[in-house]
Amino acid sequence: MRGGLVGATGGRAREGGGGGAVEAMRDMDDLLEALSRSKFRSRMRLGAKERAYLEEKTLAVVLEHGRRFVLERLAPAEPRNDGRQTPMRSHPVFVAQHATATCCRGCLAKWHFIGKGRSLTDEEIDYVLQVVERWLVDGGGASGC
Ligand SMILES: [Zn+2]
Repeated sequence: MRGGLVGATGGRAREGGGGGAVEAMRDMDDLLEALSRSKFRSRMRLGAKERAYLEEKTLAVVLEHGRRFVLERLAPAEPRNDGRQTPMRSHPVFVAQHATATCCRGCLAKWHFIGKGRSLTDEEIDYVLQVVERWLVDGGGASGC
């Protein structure tokens, strides 16, 4: 799997508000729609502690932690303990990772079409963080319950 990601050619969307979708590994709306149909994924939501932490630290800081987690736990070609490297709680990003199937390389492969057995590209790392951010911004699984 080298050379050219399907559909990811040219013009990366620049950051900035507006919420325009960045065309990357998989269309994000399509992805979120699929995730919402998964019982396990859609049941994930931030607990009171994680929510408080997110508010206190701000999204930007929490996402910085997220980048570190992704770099350390997901990006290597063969992450340690792959499949169980992401705790189910304790940090908003961990919860978001389970909710968005960015928790391990198996889930990345299955849900996001990102191949295993190789390091993540910078673009893929950004993409993972965008998915996590999107989920957190959308309310962290909040749904009047
Ligand atoms: Zn996983």
